[in-house]
Amino acid sequence: MASKVYFAEAGGRPRQGPLDRLHMLFEAAGFPARITKRDLVAVKVHVGERGSTSFVPPYYVSAIVEDVTRCGGRPFLTDSGCLYFSARYNARDHMVVAAEHGFTIETAGAPFLVADGLRGSDVRTVEVNFKNLTSVDVVSAIHDANSLVVVTHVTGHALTGFAGTLKNLGMGAAGRRMKLAVHDQVRPGVNHDLCTVCKNCLDNCPAEAVDIVDGQIVMDPDVCIGCGECISICPEKAVGVLWKGDPLAAQEKLAEISAAVLANKRDRCCFFTFLINITPTCDCWNYSAAPLVGDIGYLASSDPVAIDQAAADLVNGAGGPGDGPGATDRFRASFHSIDWSRQLSYAEEIGLGTRSYELERIGD
Ligand code: SF4
Ligand code: SF4
Repeated sequence: MASKVYFAEAGGRPRQGPLDRLHMLFEAAGFPARITKRDLVAVKVHVGERGSTSFVPPYYVSAIVEDVTRCGGRPFLTDSGCLYFSARYNARDHMVVAAEHGFTIETAGAPFLVADGLRGSDVRTVEVNFKNLTSVDVVSAIHDANSLVVVTHVTGHALTGFAGTLKNLGMGAAGRRMKLAVHDQVRPGVNHDLCTVCKNCLDNCPAEAVDIVDGQIVMDPDVCIGCGECISICPEKAVGVLWKGDPLAAQEKLAEISAAVLANKRDRCCFFTFLINITPTCDCWNYSAAPLVGDIGYLASSDPVAIDQAAADLVNGAGGPGDGPGATDRFRASFHSIDWSRQLSYAEEIGLGTRSYELERIGD
């Protein structure tokens, strides 16, 4: 059976601006029934790395927080720390970046707290029985919340090709052990015939895994965390993916982790997806590249798989600058032909949702 995904176009008109449309989506998707009075409601956001400008802005989040509060919920904004050294590596630094980007009670209407504690060790282990994982560390603030609202910004991604709700949950609601497990399949390799030793990869590697040896760029596989930044940042396209195992297993793990995150609150989850500023890389990087397509709109659904499928279809169905006939899969085109659809087909296989959806347009 198809799941309902509700869609409102980006932008607005007098008396029906973007925030009005978010309120309309909240109602249409039946989210008030998923929040009970006095619920602690985790609103999973991504505050953006320092230097990024394409994350979902806090004033959009404020509309969602307002609706949660109106339903009697007690919302808090949350996200987990990074696997690598960045401005969001520990909770103190993460909260500083969140405040710099406006994720404060004054702007977004709810306080921001880091979901996995000061040093990223505050997790709850959920036993599962999947093909790749037998236990999943879920960050405590999301695990322990009564309800969950997932605010996702769709982008391309160097590891998974497409980053939507499953990626948001599979990385953002997962403890460090799980983040490592997702990344352990991929390591970069350099084509020295193409490399100009411009050092972009060396300067931007968050794990300091890149060095120059005998005039050539080398990546230390024991230090590399498989983030893929060097792949996306190389101007010569000289860095490729060396898969250590099944290249699709990382996507399967995202789905398995997402299932574990949602396990104790499946009927108490609301998914919002923003199809704006759709950049080729995610908001974890300290810059935002030009978008792949113009702004499309906002989605809401109670099915995390259906909303991702709808998001991918809308992006791939939208015209982009310089598109010729047959320009179809922007995510696959962005990153070395990664078949991003495995995360969705596998999520469907393990019962997380369905790729079949009915799109219902909200607003005018
Ligand atoms: S970014 Fe690319 S071209 Fe520049 S040093 Fe690294 S691999 Fe070579
Ligand atoms: S994938 Fe590249 S940028 Fe990321 S840690 Fe490894 S060498 Fe560094």
